[in-house]
Amino acid sequence: MSARILSGNAIRDQVYEELRKEIEELGRAGIRPGLAAVLVGENPASQLYVKSKIAACGKLGIHSEKLVPPATITTEELLAAVEELNRREEIDGILVQLPLPKQVNAKRILEAVDPSKDVDGFHPVNVGRLVAGLPTLVACTPVGCMEILRRSNIPIEGANAVVMGRSDIVGKPMALLLMHSHATVTICHSKTRNLPEVVRRADIVVAAMGRAAMVTPEFIRPGATVIDVGQNVITDPEQAQKILANFPQKLASFKEKGSVLVGDVHPDVESVAGAITPVPGGVGPLTIAMLMGNTVKAARLRRGAHVEHTAGAARG
Ligand code: NAP
Repeated sequence: MSARILSGNAIRDQVYEELRKEIEELGRAGIRPGLAAVLVGENPASQLYVKSKIAACGKLGIHSEKLVPPATITTEELLAAVEELNRREEIDGILVQLPLPKQVNAKRILEAVDPSKDVDGFHPVNVGRLVAGLPTLVACTPVGCMEILRRSNIPIEGANAVVMGRSDIVGKPMALLLMHSHATVTICHSKTRNLPEVVRRADIVVAAMGRAAMVTPEFIRPGATVIDVGQNVITDPEQAQKILANFPQKLASFKEKGSVLVGDVHPDVESVAGAITPVPGGVGPLTIAMLMGNTVKAARLRRGAHVEHTAGAARG
């Protein structure tokens, strides 16, 4: 048996199509959604993420701005920059790319973002609203996972769901979204005992640990749906050989490039799962799409536009 591949790229394209219509309607009401990305310092991965987010804005006709304060910025200076963005009417979404340099108090910065512009869904007010099941801006990656499940017609109500990882960015909001959709949710973390046994009970597995290919076929109940959030860059040839032994094309590409992106789920799980997201091209594209969705949603809510919205039903 080979799993159905849940293509994030195809779902992203559907979401963009819907967002384009919504943005056009907002345009007719004189509103152009605006996103400001704050990128501190020169972390290459962060630069790449912000570049992709700005490019997505360009594709959809969302106004975007990039602020690039130096890596030496202080907490007070960064707070002032965020407060200036809070004041600007034409900015609907503020995203502060993490990680921030050590001298900056990241918690204070994230709490300074106006909750109505918090398109990453990290502000305690928005997290609290999510817990309470109230409409709010929710973290993009878990909302993206929900879009994949919904649009792929994976039954969630009554399903046993296991979320591997309990971070504020992925694991916790993911578990809450699944619970609000009436799944029976188990949250696993580094102290969970008998992990493979616990995960084997799941109809839906969401792997978000940052552990390359850790979820091997024996973790998975045959036919289960597997959402792989992990993004791990492998450069060690021995590790690549071990993970990609049954995928000669990927192994050849590793040999050519010297690196390969793998998820937290071992590629061999494809032969056991009923449905699985690929890495790359699974959850990643949805994360950016949901950021766009949150920006449009923030524009609609902040500026009081009564515009029909269909994209991202999971976004509430
Ligand atoms: P994180 O903050 O490091 O959290 C990792 C979580 O996994 C923690 O709760 C940790 O448990 C748990 N964990 C670590 N090792 C484990 C093990 N051996 N067994 C069971 N649980 C274990 O990571 P994150 O920010 O949530 O990100 C997780 C992964 O998702 C990373 O690979 C990241 O790159 C990826 N990601 C992808 C996207 C995307 O768009 N595709 C977006 C965000 C993140 P403890 O709490 O006990 O330490």
